[in-house]
Amino acid sequence: MDIKTIYENNDASERSKKIKELKELLDTCIEKGNIEVDSVFDDHNYYKASAVDCVIYYVCGYITRKLAKRYKCEECTTFFNSSTEASANPVAALTNIKSKGWLLHPNHSLFEFIRYIEDLFNQYCKYSDVFELIVNHITENNKQFWFSCSLHKTDVMSDIITYYITMRMRQYSVFQNREQNKLSSKKKKLSKLVNT
Ligand SMILES: [Zn+2]
Repeated sequence: MDIKTIYENNDASERSKKIKELKELLDTCIEKGNIEVDSVFDDHNYYKASAVDCVIYYVCGYITRKLAKRYKCEECTTFFNSSTEASANPVAALTNIKSKGWLLHPNHSLFEFIRYIEDLFNQYCKYSDVFELIVNHITENNKQFWFSCSLHKTDVMSDIITYYITMRMRQYSVFQNREQNKLSSKKKKLSKLVNT
């Protein structure tokens, strides 16, 4: 299923049916384990307009769940708990249609931060030291991330960066390999033509 077509389709009932199907797919993915979340990124067509924001928003909810399990102090919990409220933000379209309450609305500050990392990823993904380049960029530009707990702010920030970039790098290399395989099979076909 293509997320982009969901948002371009004006038929509301058809759209909500598709979103429901997608949501069920995502439910299944997350139950199987975190690596499956990467498949949300698989189709590069998602990297267009608001569809990408919707995916990032969804991934934010996923990261929030991971972090909420790890950081349980009162101030941290305040930040992560804000994520259960429904959102009027258009990028929340996917997440707004709830399934038994597991879909989380990420904190706005978290969403903006991950969106920023995604932009940096697109900027640096062709370099082998992409992780280092992104971290350097964030520190050199003194990128601010609002977080309710001053004690765990740095830890949470570095976890977010690590989770997100790891996820994106894995997806990116899968995509690159697939493109490479397509290319080499084309070459094989061509060489067969030449040899015969
Ligand atoms: Zn804390």
